[in-house]
Amino acid sequence: MKIVILCGGKGTRLGLGDLPKPMVPVDGIPLLERLVGQAAVQGFDDFIFLAGHGAGHICDHFGSGARWNVTIEHVVEAEPLGSAGCFRQIRDALNAPFIVLYGDILHDVDLAAFAEFGREKGGAGTLFVHPNDHPEDSDLVEIDQTDRIVAFHAKPHPPGARYSNLVSAAIYYLNPAVLDFIPPVGACDWGHDVFPRLCREASVHGYRSAEYAKDVGTPARLERAASHLREGRVARLSHLNAKPVVFVDRDGVVNEERGGILTPQDVALIPGSAQAIRMLNQAGIPVICVTNQPFIAKGQLTWRGLGAIGGEIDHQLAEAAGAYLDDLRICPHHPESGWMDEIPELKIVCACRKPAPGMLLDAAQFHNIDLSRSWMIGDRYCDIEAGRRAGTRTILVETGFAGSDHDTFAIAADAIMPDLATAITAIMEGRL
Ligand SMILES: [Mg+2]
Ligand SMILES: [Zn+2]
Repeated sequence: MKIVILCGGKGTRLGLGDLPKPMVPVDGIPLLERLVGQAAVQGFDDFIFLAGHGAGHICDHFGSGARWNVTIEHVVEAEPLGSAGCFRQIRDALNAPFIVLYGDILHDVDLAAFAEFGREKGGAGTLFVHPNDHPEDSDLVEIDQTDRIVAFHAKPHPPGARYSNLVSAAIYYLNPAVLDFIPPVGACDWGHDVFPRLCREASVHGYRSAEYAKDVGTPARLERAASHLREGRVARLSHLNAKPVVFVDRDGVVNEERGGILTPQDVALIPGSAQAIRMLNQAGIPVICVTNQPFIAKGQLTWRGLGAIGGEIDHQLAEAAGAYLDDLRICPHHPESGWMDEIPELKIVCACRKPAPGMLLDAAQFHNIDLSRSWMIGDRYCDIEAGRRAGTRTILVETGFAGSDHDTFAIAADAIMPDLATAITAIMEGRL
């Protein structure tokens, strides 16, 4: 599979003189060289570099790629045509699915796992998506329960908008048919000019990963990325390495339990929960929300309605503390019949409705999670039992239902804490 790396971009803001941005050293090695090296280790050996400004420096450094045991084709654009426009000149070289990377994004993504997901989903392509701590000034995507991107919201967002916090991280798996969506002339960008229409007219999926991917476009971002690299965070978060996470139940843990959250107006964060989640975000520990939402099966809530509630929670987390959930796993099922508008195919005994551990186990496989070093935090023993069956350590919090189902589950949690904030603080301080 070919990997196309966008290598344009001036390094002026980074004080690189006439060196292009992808040649910026990150902890001593040019970023572009890191990207090639990582992909080569994973077995990718066929690259196209799309360069413009400072192309000579890149060509001199990499040559044919022999030093990395890869093949590099250097393509130089005469004038800047944007991130998508420059693909016109390599159109004929792309006759099978390919991966697109940007030379100013530091990442350590398991590209084979990403491509496999894209291949299984099919359609026009798959975008690597993740939340960030400033969704209000980011382009946001909305994905449905099948991971299909159903909306693409370019910034600026209208006042009062409550979108889910999912941002395209500029790593793409694309089928060649996508090239037909690039306007025939002029400068154009993937994010601005191609994806909004592509997501409307074709099937594009989101790969919601907690792997590290951040741009290094300013001195402050570069320094942050370099320090993350040195402390091992970049590699630790890769799908190639098993990692601990914190699983959290949603209602009664992150936001107040209201006997079912059926509209965005029902969403009120439990005090301190956003700040606590932010602590995990800053420490580079993925936070994965696992929630039973039987209201879908009962016909009381649509997927779209559930998405709006998720958007409200994301918005409140971001607004309160720049916090975010790395993933959200939902069980829409319910085992018993008898509701007027119920959806029969969701009225099943499934493997994901807590206390079954299915959501945690699926997440563990998808994100390569070390369950024995992970935590499950919930307000019911039903959550604790799910964590116990999955093999995590468990904390019951005394918000929401505060363990009122103890008679049903004769089990103990590893710890009982007043709320999410004290639970996460205790985990972070190593007191548990
Ligand atoms: Mg709960
Ligand atoms: Zn289920």
